[in-house]
Amino acid sequence: MLEKIKLTYLAVSFSFVVFPLLFAEAREIRKITPPKLDVAHLGPRILCHRPMRHGSPKLNVEQRYDKVIANNYGHGGSGWTLAPGSADYVNNLLINSKCRGDLKSNTPITIIGGGVIGLFTAYDLFTKGYTNLTIVAESFDALTSHNSGGLVAPVSMDNDSEIKEYYL
Ligand SMILES: Cc1cc2nc3c(=O)[nH]c(=O)nc-3n(C[C@H](O)[C@H](O)[C@H](O)COP(=O)(O)OP(=O)(O)OC[C@H]3O[C@@H](n4cnc5c(N)ncnc54)[C@H](O)[C@@H]3O)c2cc1C
Repeated sequence: MLEKIKLTYLAVSFSFVVFPLLFAEAREIRKITPPKLDVAHLGPRILCHRPMRHGSPKLNVEQRYDKVIANNYGHGGSGWTLAPGSADYVNNLLINSKCRGDLKSNTPITIIGGGVIGLFTAYDLFTKGYTNLTIVAESFDALTSHNSGGLVAPVSMDNDSEIKEYYL
């Protein structure tokens, strides 16, 4: 029995220690040049915002004077991930809200913001049959939405269980 253990130990040692060493010479050695990080070698610098609210984005419907306002903002670092779900969620709130009034397919609806949240909100409303849509924005170019990492991961959503369940 002891002999068997010794033999097994030798075989294992040979496979993991001696055998790789025999081929060590054949390994390719690559030299890596460190990147030059001084200003002259930097590309364009871009400033973006990741406005985030504690708990969840602001997703609700409210009446102010004679206007009905649906809020859909504050997605922090997960706007691309959450945009389709947020749009569906807030548009359903709007369509089913008591203050929606006489909401018809041709009722004018204005969407403020031309980033991923505004565009998904408009797209979702359109797929729900609302056709009189106008998107207004301070800018349509070089937005945070255009400079995001593009990962689909709800990393900044950790609190509101009701909304989290809806998304996932
Ligand atoms: C560096 C970085 C990496 C990211 N990576 C990821 C990622 O990997 N995955 C992910 O899911 N999310 C990521 N995000 C987050 C994601 O990009 C944002 O949550 C998302 O783009 C927000 O979209 P938005 O439409 O709300 O905002 P924006 O893209 O900022 O658009 C806002 C729109 O509103 C308009 N607007 C603002 N104020 C006014 C006003 N007063 N009047 C009229 N118009 C106005 C603007 O002109 C613009 O059209 C990242 C963000 C950053 C900064």
